[in-house]
Amino acid sequence: MTCRDVLDRIEALAAGDEAATAELRAHLEGCLACAAALAEARRIEAVLASRPAPPAPARFSAAVTSRIRQERWRSEQHVDRLFNVVLLAGVLAIAVGVLALFNVNAMAAAFTGGLALLNRLSGEIVVQATPAFSTYLGAAGFLVTALFVWWWAERRLSL
Ligand SMILES: [Zn+2]
Repeated sequence: MTCRDVLDRIEALAAGDEAATAELRAHLEGCLACAAALAEARRIEAVLASRPAPPAPARFSAAVTSRIRQERWRSEQHVDRLFNVVLLAGVLAIAVGVLALFNVNAMAAAFTGGLALLNRLSGEIVVQATPAFSTYLGAAGFLVTALFVWWWAERRLSL
């Protein structure tokens, strides 16, 4: 055990927070500098213990509690804003998807021409349906993301 090891634990020893091990006691018996440091630390500890601890300022607890509440409120506001943005994006994507669904012109164009034309148009139907499908996929993605953010926010706020 080195002097540095002992000096690192001197305050805890003097305060009685830590018990001296056999190794530590052996070092203190053989090292005048560390023994003097321990004696000085015990003297300071005794002086501090003899004086009454100054009381905390009257509004200290209230100020700390208020500050904690304020910080938590800011954090909640941030999560709420993020959630609202994601939710709005999801709602917009769903609205776009619904509008695409009711885009009668595109659907009617795909189905005009009767059966004879159907074989020729089958390729076009797929092409015209594809943008709507990707819109639905995007809307579903936004919705899942919004639900995930909601779940995350609820979990975080309940901690
Ligand atoms: Zn020493």
